Amino acid sequence: MTTLEATHMQLRCKHCGSNLTGPVLMRLWHKSPESIPSSWPNDRQAFSDPGTAVRAQEPYVRNVGDGPTPHLGHTPIDFVHPDDLTDTLRLTEKQGYLNGCCGLDGCDGPNQLCQCGAEVGTLLTDCWTLYGFVPQPAETVWVNAQRQTNFPRRPPKS
Ligand SMILES: [Zn+2]
Repeated sequence: MTTLEATHMQLRCKHCGSNLTGPVLMRLWHKSPESIPSSWPNDRQAFSDPGTAVRAQEPYVRNVGDGPTPHLGHTPIDFVHPDDLTDTLRLTEKQGYLNGCCGLDGCDGPNQLCQCGAEVGTLLTDCWTLYGFVPQPAETVWVNAQRQTNFPRRPPKS
């Protein structure tokens, strides 16, 4: 994998400017035997350790063969480790977007809201999905940030 920039980046809401993640390094990824990982992550597996986000260069296709679904069909597509999300995020109230087996499958629409109500991304935490957060490009922006390990983290939940 290639690190896009040596500097840390932080995801913000385009509408209100709230920090949605802590500072992370962004790495570029494409599916290849030489890449790490060499294929899309297995179920419940994150793309990277906390502190590193991954920018995939090709459409995300689930291991079960589905997809891409419209709100996850853009390229490049970014994957953030859920531990890097801030407590600004909350679950959507749209029941249709909260589907999942024992977690969130994220199949039906962005299930995470900014505090301002913008639909900023999709959390995938189900037993048959990878483990990660995908920002909505139209609602969010990456900005340069200082390295920082302490920030108000999202409380652990599905
Ligand atoms: Zn916002």
